[in-house]
Amino acid sequence: MLKKNRITPLLRQYKSLKEKEPDAILFFRVGDFYETFYEDAKLSSKVLGIALTQRQEGVPLAGVPHHSAKRYIQRLVSSGYKVAICEQLEEPKPGKLVDRDIVEVITQGTVLDPSLLPERRTNFLASIYPDNISGLALLDISTGDFRVTEIEREELLDEIRRVEPTELLIPSDETTLNIDGMVITKIDGFQFDYEYATKNLLSHFKTETLDGFGCGGMKEGIQAAGAALIYAKRIKRGELQYVEKITPYARAGSLLLDEPTRRNLELVRKPTGETDGTLLSILDNTTTPMGGRLIRDILLSPLLEPKKIRERQDKVTLFYDNPSVTAQIRSHFSQIPDLERLTTRLSLERVNGRDLLFISKALKKFPNIEKLTPSSLLSYTLGNFSEIVEEIEKTLVHSPPQTIRDGSIIRDRVNKELDELRALSKDAKLWINGFEKTERKKTGISSLKVGFNSVFGYYIEVTRPNLGKVPDSYIRKQTLTNAERFITPELKEYEAKVLQADERARLLEYELFKELRDRVKRDIPSIKEASRKIAELDLFSTFASVARRYGYRRPLVDDEDRIVIKDSRHPVVERLLKEMEFIPNDICLDNKERVLIITGPNMAGKSTYLRQVALSVILAQMGSYIPATEAKIGITDRIFTRIGASDDLSKGVSTFLAEMTETANILNNATKRSLLILDEIGRGTSTYDGLSIAWASVEYIVRNLKAKTLFATHYHELTELEHLSEEIKNYNLLCKKWKDRIIFLRKVVKGGSPQSYGIEVAKLAGLPNDVIERAKRILISLEKDQRRASSERLMQPLQLGLFNKTESEVEKELKGMEIDKLTPLNALLALKRLKDKIKET
Ligand code: ATP
Repeated sequence: MLKKNRITPLLRQYKSLKEKEPDAILFFRVGDFYETFYEDAKLSSKVLGIALTQRQEGVPLAGVPHHSAKRYIQRLVSSGYKVAICEQLEEPKPGKLVDRDIVEVITQGTVLDPSLLPERRTNFLASIYPDNISGLALLDISTGDFRVTEIEREELLDEIRRVEPTELLIPSDETTLNIDGMVITKIDGFQFDYEYATKNLLSHFKTETLDGFGCGGMKEGIQAAGAALIYAKRIKRGELQYVEKITPYARAGSLLLDEPTRRNLELVRKPTGETDGTLLSILDNTTTPMGGRLIRDILLSPLLEPKKIRERQDKVTLFYDNPSVTAQIRSHFSQIPDLERLTTRLSLERVNGRDLLFISKALKKFPNIEKLTPSSLLSYTLGNFSEIVEEIEKTLVHSPPQTIRDGSIIRDRVNKELDELRALSKDAKLWINGFEKTERKKTGISSLKVGFNSVFGYYIEVTRPNLGKVPDSYIRKQTLTNAERFITPELKEYEAKVLQADERARLLEYELFKELRDRVKRDIPSIKEASRKIAELDLFSTFASVARRYGYRRPLVDDEDRIVIKDSRHPVVERLLKEMEFIPNDICLDNKERVLIITGPNMAGKSTYLRQVALSVILAQMGSYIPATEAKIGITDRIFTRIGASDDLSKGVSTFLAEMTETANILNNATKRSLLILDEIGRGTSTYDGLSIAWASVEYIVRNLKAKTLFATHYHELTELEHLSEEIKNYNLLCKKWKDRIIFLRKVVKGGSPQSYGIEVAKLAGLPNDVIERAKRILISLEKDQRRASSERLMQPLQLGLFNKTESEVEKELKGMEIDKLTPLNALLALKRLKDKIKET
């Protein structure tokens, strides 16, 4: 029994390895298990639900079998932990501590294992260097995609949320960023040092300067990028040569969709986290994982340049006009695996025979795809890989094993020496099979058997009753309960032939595999390029097939300052309605009508209408067709939304405060070319506060911002705003009252909504009749009161501005009055003057 606190050599070895990766849970290989010790054991036991035991007193231990370790590692990594894998580097020998080392660290942002990677989205490791102008670098180790940008500190968080990295690197002294809910890795500040980062990037890319990548003049971006690369190389314990370039990107180069807008418009995820029923779920019919990643990427950053958008549209049109070609080409795509990530694994030499066959299967499809690709897309030639396909198919067996060192991977007649070794082994095995027969005859023992096990090799087994017949030449090797095992020099001689031949064949197969792998590796750049083209073709053909299936049309996208859509529909709601028909509506936002006040009862379809306009602009600027019969869309620089009185409980911000923060952001940042979707501003507070804020906001938009605005509201008073400016127009969603019921016609028509129908909607919802009747009486009396607070009175503060200036003048005069110097008469006159001023208001 070991004494408490006495540390065994094994634990000493464990501790020294743990010091190398202190933040990771160390999976320490002991025989067939990965063991975790101390705090790691307690944590693993808690997260994985595995038993916590003790290796010795005071040393907690929890382990998982190595064959099922993947599942456990996956769970730890997806819960935000890092796992360091420590392997035994040699065969165990009695009395000697096995040499061990960490061979890999797995973190969410640096995983490569396909089972740990999200298939249809990028897996970015983000690195940030926060400053007034902050650097942000994004590295997807699974594909080699490496991007960098510099942005204002206030915009940094929003950009990070847009990208949704799976791991975030920050300097260890950073405490100001509110990045809750993300997997954070803190690294020493020196790794972000500019000189150090530049040196590392230059030596990685083997260039003299970073200007060639377009990073000239960047500082914070380079600091972030350097830190990301150094970290990734350390974690992966590799050179990552396939990260061939770094691409600067500008947030300003794309249609800006901030966090509330992405959330409100349910672009890739609903507020509940679901992905079903989002714009992406309707649009993403891509068939390759690369295409899936691309469509998500461009959905979150649509373009700003009409020319580039039209180029995309032209490609979509080519497919749209050729539906049968589109269907055929897409059926070829569906058989293409994740070439991008496969080539990454290839360059890291982490592929097996099956992976190479996958690659060749994909490359084999290229000529068919090229034949089908419309001739005007000549730049989409994928390249000729027939030689490499032939080589892979000629070399590898039809269904190779998972491992690459255990043989059975190379075909016969690929290598002469291998064939000879295989023949030798086969002959020797045949001889051994024949040996059993000869020995039975020779000894007269009919039950004599020749067998094999890994400890003794080949042996002759004779059952106990027959031991008397065993010849002297047999050498005893092992005694069992009912039998004994023997060998003969001749048997051992053939055994050696088999084993030697097998061992040499295995080694040779491994060498041949490596040769083939290296040969395919040389083609990585062109395979990657082809894979990028396939992703694009997949994207354009998807846009075309979605457009055909759902009846979308090509919008005219240009620089004109207007958004005009005929028969616009909501791409997601129309799919959910299924057999019920979605009622299309027109929209026109131009110099004559810039701000539309949209009224209508609850459930009339206001929010749907607002959102469908925003979604159509996004689709159009992505290069896609849109759900409408005709459209002219002038480039929009930003879409802002303020929808519903949503509580942001997770952030501890009150409903109203959250609403006002979003409104402030809109009013501070929108430009003339922005599109504002404002649904129920001011609902989170008392009626008059809400009404005044909504009113003042519209005033501000129309006077100062001139942004195109759709404003849905329950406040009928706001329809009075139409008189304020020519550019404000009222619209409402048509409803009809029939008997006691309300019928929603879902048609947007000119003018303010005559009534709110709230009580009718409440009736639809099944409120008890007593409540409905009482509500009607209350409404009548409230409406009487309200007449007093007529719209004229509301218009007054508008004309005079929100704050009553007269009152402040009275105040001013009062403050300036020197009472002790006033005569009683003058005091009386001043009093009268002040009173008159107040009366005027
Ligand atoms: P509230 O004021 O209560 O938020 P709303 O006026 O914003 O209501 P929506 O939520 O837009 O109403 O629409 C209510 C429902 O009406 C939608 O879920 C949808 O099923 C249906 N709907 C909306 N627009 C249309 C349309 N154009 N054609 C057919 N159905 C529609």
